[in-house]
Amino acid sequence: MSDIINILPDSVANQIAAGEVVDRPASAVKELLENALDAGATAIQLIVKDAGRTLIQVIDNGCGMSDADARLCFERHATSKIRRADDLFAIHTMGFRGEALASIAAVAQVELKSRQQESELGTRIVIEGSDVKEQSPCNCPTGTSISVKNLFFNIPARRNFLKKDSIEMSHIEEIFRRVALPNHDIAFSLHHNGRLLYDLKGGNLAQRIAGIFGSGFSERLYNIQESTEPVKLFGYVGKSEYAKRTRGEQYLFVNGRFIKHPVFSTAIERAYSELIPERTYPSYFVLLQVDPSRLDVNIHPTKTEVRFLDENIIFSILRAATKKALGQYSLATELEFDPSTEIDFSPAPKGHIAQQPTVTFNPNYNPFRGGGTPRGDYSKRSEFEHFFDSSTSPADDCTVERLPLEEEPVQEPATVFTATPIGYQNRYIVTTLKSGIVVIDQQRAHERILYERLLARSGAATAAQQLLFPVNVRFNAADSEMLCELMPELSRIGFIISPLGQNNFVVSATPADIGDNGLQELLEQTIDDYRNSMMQKFSDRDKSICISIARQMAVKGGTVLKAEEMQRIIGDLFSCQAPNISPSGRRTMVIIGEEELGEKFKL
Ligand code: ADP
Ligand code: MG
Repeated sequence: MSDIINILPDSVANQIAAGEVVDRPASAVKELLENALDAGATAIQLIVKDAGRTLIQVIDNGCGMSDADARLCFERHATSKIRRADDLFAIHTMGFRGEALASIAAVAQVELKSRQQESELGTRIVIEGSDVKEQSPCNCPTGTSISVKNLFFNIPARRNFLKKDSIEMSHIEEIFRRVALPNHDIAFSLHHNGRLLYDLKGGNLAQRIAGIFGSGFSERLYNIQESTEPVKLFGYVGKSEYAKRTRGEQYLFVNGRFIKHPVFSTAIERAYSELIPERTYPSYFVLLQVDPSRLDVNIHPTKTEVRFLDENIIFSILRAATKKALGQYSLATELEFDPSTEIDFSPAPKGHIAQQPTVTFNPNYNPFRGGGTPRGDYSKRSEFEHFFDSSTSPADDCTVERLPLEEEPVQEPATVFTATPIGYQNRYIVTTLKSGIVVIDQQRAHERILYERLLARSGAATAAQQLLFPVNVRFNAADSEMLCELMPELSRIGFIISPLGQNNFVVSATPADIGDNGLQELLEQTIDDYRNSMMQKFSDRDKSICISIARQMAVKGGTVLKAEEMQRIIGDLFSCQAPNISPSGRRTMVIIGEEELGEKFKL
């Protein structure tokens, strides 16, 4: 029998490997940008033509390559970044497989120019489909410039597979953002077809976010940071009121590398539960720093998946830190009632004030306003060192239990003192606290009160109040079916509804605050709202029903309230567990503190 096994020539092997590493222009962009970072560049330019089809060029001011290395770097498994298998567990660079340039050179026409600082002349090399066409000395600045032309020129099938320019370009821009965000101390620019799309100076993370997403973005974010043994984290999470219908700006990085980590994303999103409407998503930009030996980035060369040894603990820390950020800046932490004004607001309901931990923070701190000194050094850690070396929070400070929103209500009668409130535009209630003047949105506040009341009574025997005269209601077939499905939840919160057949029902009891008015509309709207929120995977039926009913029952903006009614809202609101946020995640009140007033009266 004759032998049939061949060793493939390198050019073919490289083309096959290229299929994995370079599947579209954006992946070549990623490899080239990462190489520039690994070379210690402090300024990196990306120039693209026709969404990368015609040209992808990356110019860096990094360490450059010697003549021999410039030739060698296009060989497969040619890398300067690891030598031994052991090195795999202590990777500090973006690349280490030595595959990228070999793969790119197999499927494009590549021109490389590179010079090391100490050499007078640089080297220029031209490669086409793995064939070296030319190598000669050249004049060029320190650093490296790689031009990748006519990607997939020798694989027409793949070239035809590319999507239209707008799509390929949006992939390239996304890669650019993922690289530029964590490496905020490095200058980046991006040109497409001669147009400058991004021009980012080196600075801190906040400045980088502003550079990419616009300076107005700063208003939407809270700072988040935590320093513990398995992970240090730093970044920004979006304020709940800016949660969006799509998963937009959600960026998670580990050791300067963008990752997708559904578990950690859930950790962040969980911290928002109840603060934002269902099916909306917060923005976040979170940098994790983890000992490289506690991660496995080796799963797939181009994938963004990473395995963490300490996944569970990092999950808790991330969630707690996000909650802390949201709670820390929420106005509830500032609440202190002013006992000097004598008007006793009573009887306060059997509610309670959750004891908020006192947190000191500078409400005027705005990381986006000036201040950041761009660092010239090439260190992905400097941000963390800057924040954590002087950190006052010890590792065990970060416990989920102590965070405000998860706290069990303290079983004490609430003693609430307040000056006589006044209404403004039949929409806001204005009163004073020890810490300042508080302006409450009457509708949102009332939604919060009703929501917590409905939830608190849920399941209790007293939840239902018999109606003197039962009310008949009738729905279309789809709503009837949905109503039947929601029957257990509705009965838990106090509705007693019995089917009479043919889509007719009789309501014989309702939750205490509701009564018998407009029951038909109330139930229809509740069914509708529920249907809208149903798509969400973790929708809690009880909660979404309570949110819907609370919204419908709440006094509306524009309703004239009597002083007693305003007082009742104030008292009830401050007895809530999360008084500063409406059930759908909107701000219920604004406090103008003494200091802020002082500022305003300075002149
Ligand atoms: P890897 O990054 O996995 O080592 P690459 O194929 O991306 O593999 O690059 C091969 C080698 O070429 C790198 O290890 C590095 O030594 C060198 N190299 C690539 N790009 C640059 C650059 N922009 N500046 C300096 N050296 C570079
Ligand atoms: Mg590389």
